[in-house]
Amino acid sequence: MKELYEFFMVEPSTLPEALRAARQGVQSAQMSIDLIRQTFNLMQKEPLSCMCRDCEAEFNASRPPGAFVVVVPMFPRKGSEGISCIICSDCMDRPDLAERVQDALREIWPGRIENIALHPVRMQ
Ligand SMILES: [Zn+2]
Repeated sequence: MKELYEFFMVEPSTLPEALRAARQGVQSAQMSIDLIRQTFNLMQKEPLSCMCRDCEAEFNASRPPGAFVVVVPMFPRKGSEGISCIICSDCMDRPDLAERVQDALREIWPGRIENIALHPVRMQ
């Protein structure tokens, strides 16, 4: 069965809102928070592998990530998966960010991004 996905961009300023939605039992928010946590842990362990998924700028102490992008199932079920990546602050405001990130994710997560909902939701 095909799975439908949603695209969210979570900025540090909107993280508390996402955490609250997760605590209230919103499944897409819970998955998003889990993915952000995993990505954040990976960032701590392998800082060299952490680049902006759009422009490939590297992150370090003086250039922190601007936002996390998460792609999660619209209707999660057992075994559903999502993916997240980091975006730099320069790329956050690109009008075509959703398309660009989807192109980048398609390479590392083939066959799934085709089913994404093309209405990026910016949590604010
Ligand atoms: Zn960037």
